[in-house]
Amino acid sequence: LEAKEEFSHKTLAMDVMRPRRSDPPLTVLTQDSMTVGDVETLIADTAYSGFPVVVSHESQRLVGFVLRRDIIISIDNARQRQDGIVSTSRIFFTEYTPPQPPNSPPPLKLRAIMDLSPFTVTDLTAMDIVVDIFRKLGLRQCLITHNGRLLGIITKKDILKHVAQIANRDPDSILFN
Ligand code: ADP
Repeated sequence: LEAKEEFSHKTLAMDVMRPRRSDPPLTVLTQDSMTVGDVETLIADTAYSGFPVVVSHESQRLVGFVLRRDIIISIDNARQRQDGIVSTSRIFFTEYTPPQPPNSPPPLKLRAIMDLSPFTVTDLTAMDIVVDIFRKLGLRQCLITHNGRLLGIITKKDILKHVAQIANRDPDSILFN
């Protein structure tokens, strides 16, 4: 009975990841369709430590992960030092930057600050395995995918909360909830 109970209550990555079902979608950056102004607004409107970069909102294909502080520093530097970087400058996380239309400001290339291989697991991965991976690899965050599409994120703090929750759970609630 014990083994069966444990199995039927096994927590999966999708149960711990953000966003929750009722939350607004994950805040992501797109690899080639946002301007400096767009990203500055997003930074001002959120407090997340990092943002997944996707091919497009439609595809939700993961390209990489950028830290909030690296974006802030890069944009500040570019605005101060790089000629012509303004709010309407387009940001590129891609390897190649297409020629910009005439009379448009120069693009800002940010591929260098992106982690090109952020750690990912699928939504159906058991949380005990995810916790193990965080511990063994010393991860700060892990991205959750489903059929190759980006679905959510789990941070180190999310993991710590999850582990604390399990430790505090009384045995009766495991059996009856
Ligand atoms: P921490 O978990 O250390 O507070 P964050 O401030 O980055 O780190 O994240 C706060 C919460 O928001 C966490 O529960 C995390 O899962 C979630 N989160 C992190 N990044 C994003 C994002 N880009 N979009 C939506 N939710 C996020």
